[in-house]
Amino acid sequence: MSGSVNSTCPYCGVGCGVTVTVPRGGRSKGGRSKSGRSNGGRSKGGNAGGGHDKGDLIAVSGDTSHPANAGRLCVKGSNLADTMTDATRLKVPQIAGKEVSWQQAIDHVAQGFSDTVAEHGPDSVAFYLSGQMLTEDYYVSNKLLKGFVGTANVDTNSRLCMASAVVAQKRAFGEDVVPCDYDDLRSCKVLVLVGSNAAWAHPVLFQIAQARRQTGDLKIVVIDPRATATAREADLHLAIAPGSDLALFTGLLAHLDHVGALDQTFIHAHTNGFDQALACATQVFSDQADVAKVCDVDAKDLDAFYRLFTQTEHVVTLYSQGINQSARGVDQGNAIINCHLATGRIGRPGMGPFSITGQPNAMGGREVGGMANTLAAHMDFDAHSIDRVRRFWQAPAIAREPGLKAVDMFDAVASGRIKAIWIMATNPVASLPDKDFIAQALAQCPLVVVSDCYGDTDTVQLADVRLPAQGWGEKDGTVTNSERCISRQRRVVTPDFDARPDWKIVCDVAKAMGFTRGFDYSSPSQIFAEHAALSVFENTGERLFALPDHVGLSDEAYDGLNPVSWPMNGRPFADRRFSTPDGRANFVVTPPALTSPVSQRFPLLLNTGRLRDQWHTMSRTGLAVTLNQHAPEPRLDINPQDAEALGIVADQLVSVLGPTGSARYLAHVTESVKVGQVFAPIHWTKAHAGQSVVSGLVPRRVDPLSGQPHSKQVAVAVQPIKDCVWLRGVLFDSAQITALRDTLGQESLFWFGLSGKGGWFFEVASDGIEASRVFSSLVQCLHGDDWVDFRTPSLHRRSMSKGQQLVLVLCQAPGRHLLPTHSQIVASSTPSQSSQDELPSAPWRQLACSAQSIDTSPQICSCYAVSEARIRKSINEGCQTLMALGEVLKCGTNCGSCVPELNRLLQMSEPAAVTPKAGLPVGGIG
Ligand code: SF4
Repeated sequence: MSGSVNSTCPYCGVGCGVTVTVPRGGRSKGGRSKSGRSNGGRSKGGNAGGGHDKGDLIAVSGDTSHPANAGRLCVKGSNLADTMTDATRLKVPQIAGKEVSWQQAIDHVAQGFSDTVAEHGPDSVAFYLSGQMLTEDYYVSNKLLKGFVGTANVDTNSRLCMASAVVAQKRAFGEDVVPCDYDDLRSCKVLVLVGSNAAWAHPVLFQIAQARRQTGDLKIVVIDPRATATAREADLHLAIAPGSDLALFTGLLAHLDHVGALDQTFIHAHTNGFDQALACATQVFSDQADVAKVCDVDAKDLDAFYRLFTQTEHVVTLYSQGINQSARGVDQGNAIINCHLATGRIGRPGMGPFSITGQPNAMGGREVGGMANTLAAHMDFDAHSIDRVRRFWQAPAIAREPGLKAVDMFDAVASGRIKAIWIMATNPVASLPDKDFIAQALAQCPLVVVSDCYGDTDTVQLADVRLPAQGWGEKDGTVTNSERCISRQRRVVTPDFDARPDWKIVCDVAKAMGFTRGFDYSSPSQIFAEHAALSVFENTGERLFALPDHVGLSDEAYDGLNPVSWPMNGRPFADRRFSTPDGRANFVVTPPALTSPVSQRFPLLLNTGRLRDQWHTMSRTGLAVTLNQHAPEPRLDINPQDAEALGIVADQLVSVLGPTGSARYLAHVTESVKVGQVFAPIHWTKAHAGQSVVSGLVPRRVDPLSGQPHSKQVAVAVQPIKDCVWLRGVLFDSAQITALRDTLGQESLFWFGLSGKGGWFFEVASDGIEASRVFSSLVQCLHGDDWVDFRTPSLHRRSMSKGQQLVLVLCQAPGRHLLPTHSQIVASSTPSQSSQDELPSAPWRQLACSAQSIDTSPQICSCYAVSEARIRKSINEGCQTLMALGEVLKCGTNCGSCVPELNRLLQMSEPAAVTPKAGLPVGGIG
């Protein structure tokens, strides 16, 4: 294949269109990009490092015709080409670690599931799916278990990101329908971002809003306990106490009534339950000062927000994980929706409650019904829907009641009720709460099947059967983004090994189980056409999800499918009719919780979230060297007051203890978290930092209605770890990464490692005795001919070689700050330097002396590799605006993801003199 192909970014729920250019002659998979161009037109020079394959090139740029992004891409999308490497791919099916043919693997899985169902019944098996899967993959998986096996034990990792929003919408509107679209962000006057660090998690959406804010057209309010990159760009930031969102919006409802801002006409004509909801709100919050106290915010700030909301007709309230990932997530969603219903601000341009999805196809999974508590195509488990779907599928064994949601599903695996589970395209051992419990559950499960692109995830390691799946760029299908826009993902490369699309693997297993009719598709277009047909089957308008234009879609039409949003007949609820039996929306009573979860034993509240340049468990983004530069260390954000009280200094190793486990991080002492709170990212796994997996700290507590885990407010204790010895190394032989990290996981206090430019960069902390044990264990576990030692008073450097090939260089120094950087280790390491004879003249001696003066500050601009230290220096030398920084350093001139951080540095430097936000385009200033 050669030429340009339009596809969709596989990361966040913004669902940006990308244009992938494949050079003449095409490429087989196995290569990586050396010159992919981002939307800013910059050549990429990424190097996946660690001996990754080299091949032909693809280039990825923003699709200027796509309605979601109009050509913009954030740093993750811009670097997609650099993730196209085979280095960590799962390439051949395996049973019990032995490579087998596809036929053997399919037969084994089919037999295992059939035998389990025959012996223990349909509810003894389960599928755990992913918002990364395409709609077609979701559809056949859902159909197989719910229609043909007879169980609804089909759930998804989307349970972790938006299940609460789904239930809130069903309660309020009668159907899981997002009432807004991205155009509303272009026409609203106030944008309220609740529990959303959109500048990092949904960057292109944030850039659309921020561009309007800069022209004075829009005010942005951020409600978040942390001073995130998003909050720093806002007109008003309410750093509310964690979990007080419910109080804030219940208080807002009382305020709207108090100041006479209710839309009584709308309430009376189109809603139910208003009086009860208002009675609850006014009973709890008769005085606005009480709300400020519960939320722990300044009364004036609270009043400013309430007045802004009250006085502005065109308000969009956009919410995300900070609302959803809570034991009260559903109520929190309904409290927001209540305020929009009370003011009639829904179903019209530029206003509404807008839940955005985290994953690229969480919405597609919802459309299909790929969750345990829905049946199919926005139908639930009522008798009419069961019968309708049964007839449509000609299903021999339709599921008649909801199945087990994610956390309950793995509880059932642990208790032995589920005896066969198939996990697709997700990594629950790293991402579900209480990771050790999940790992233990899978270890004792009789049959664990995992289909995945990557062979090194924490979950794949525990699989009895491993099935190599095709990934982004290798297969065809559709995804639906946060605004209900369906876009094509298209195949642009062909892997040079036999990985298969998920839909095909599932259909082959279904047929091998004896379900020959119903799974005989020859292309994903046939599946999509059937999905569309089900959406309109006996649907006379009760369900807004309907794809009438795509019933009977031909292969050609599917190939050429342009982005299209549902409902096809315009904005949801524009006619003031909701999907409830009486057509009226429902207010929901949402009494706020007023208790604090912290205790004497666990006195701090841990918040979890995303980094700017990483995605989920890093299996894809961790392959792109450029993306590994922004936050390359597992860090825990802690307030200076807490740090001082606990005797913690910056960059010190700390231990975080929670009710279910512990984790270790480097302390990042920062005012961005308030006193009493700490923050850790969700991305680190055993593949990159075995002791820093935050899910080990999160208990299996869920919202009782949605089953979504409570991941944002975990009570923990933090302690410093003193007297560590630090080692920093580079592994040059990528074939030995697994052996290295297994050893580090067993022998060290703390380690982390990532692909870097020239090798695999890692760092280890241990106590004095363990440092020599780490060293001896590496000698034993790695394959090399010889170790060579070199010492100066402040540096101990050991290198291992194999013939003329340098395998590893490991440096130890009395202090972490005395170690050379990874880049310096690479620059100073050549095969000849493993020879002891040449060491005295090697650059190592110089390195040991210069280590203290090197730039170890974080990389702020990933596109042009510009560090914080360089930016600060330029600011001090007179660059007082974004434009000036861009001219000197180029930072911020490509994808724009770093602009909020550049603004922060400018503001910190000269607050009185700098006006960085005025008049500058966001998303690239070049
Ligand atoms: Fe991909 Fe970034 Fe767009 Fe999200 S905002 S879809 S990660 S390019």
